[in-house]
Amino acid sequence: DVTTDKFIFTREQVTQIIQPRRKFSHKGTYGHALLLAGSYGKMGAAALAARACLRSGVGLLSVHCPKVGYTILQTAVPEAMTLPDTEATHLTQLPDLNTYQAIGIGPGLGKEPATRHLVRQLLQTTPAPLVIDADALNIIAEENLQPALPPNTILTPHPKEFERLAGPASDDYNRLKLLQNFCRQYGCFVVLKGGHTCIGTPAGDLYFNITGNPGMATGGTGDVLTGIITALVAQKYSPLDACRLGVYLHGLAGDLARDQVGETALIASDLIENLGAAFRQFG
Ligand code: AMP
Ligand code: MG
Repeated sequence: DVTTDKFIFTREQVTQIIQPRRKFSHKGTYGHALLLAGSYGKMGAAALAARACLRSGVGLLSVHCPKVGYTILQTAVPEAMTLPDTEATHLTQLPDLNTYQAIGIGPGLGKEPATRHLVRQLLQTTPAPLVIDADALNIIAEENLQPALPPNTILTPHPKEFERLAGPASDDYNRLKLLQNFCRQYGCFVVLKGGHTCIGTPAGDLYFNITGNPGMATGGTGDVLTGIITALVAQKYSPLDACRLGVYLHGLAGDLARDQVGETALIASDLIENLGAAFRQFG
């Protein structure tokens, strides 16, 4: 059975973790994040992650995207700098990684062979902490790259992606056991997303989130979470605090969005629009 310390994180803990903006700070204080995201037909995922990242307090954001994403991102997210790949439709080459405090990869990425190689290279050479989502997780699963994950990497799978990474679970309880074993074995943090998102830690602890609603079961909400957590890591929150704060605020933004548009009509952009109100509840 699951031998662990299990926690529910509360509003009070979020209040304790969250850091106020400081009077004499500047954009350098809040970190420079890099997102590697997007492919032909999936640039929306990159735009959602980028907008969420910027709404979560990051100082600077660069997005490495295929060439097809250049005009899209410069138009949809003017606050982000864009680093276009040499390839039109998918990512093939890592940019210089040395100026970033956090690197997020996965939203809309696709699984082309050259992109698979890029993911492998990133795991081997990254100088900054990684937040890994979506197709980057699927590539890691299909290429059996789990042992190459740098220590303290954050992974944000939904249950299907987690199954590809860790194997099938016989039931929800067994899935938590797999989560705990996976985090211990590979020394990583896993945000297992769902109705009650559960964060697993390298120590084998499990933290359950209490915010969020079924209106969030719609395309793009996971990409928003990737942007939020990447921004928090860039701001030097510990991996555990970035995960806890990120999922709490993401769910809270979803609950505030539900108050405005209801669960049925809710879309991922509504979460981004409500991130400001979510952060404001904590100063
Ligand atoms: P993804 O599948 O990657 O787009 O991620 C979906 C996001 O929506 C995750 O953050 C989930 O936790 C959240 N989500 C999906 N379904 C629900 C639900 N029924 N209740 C609360 N949150 C949900
Ligand atoms: Mg997703």
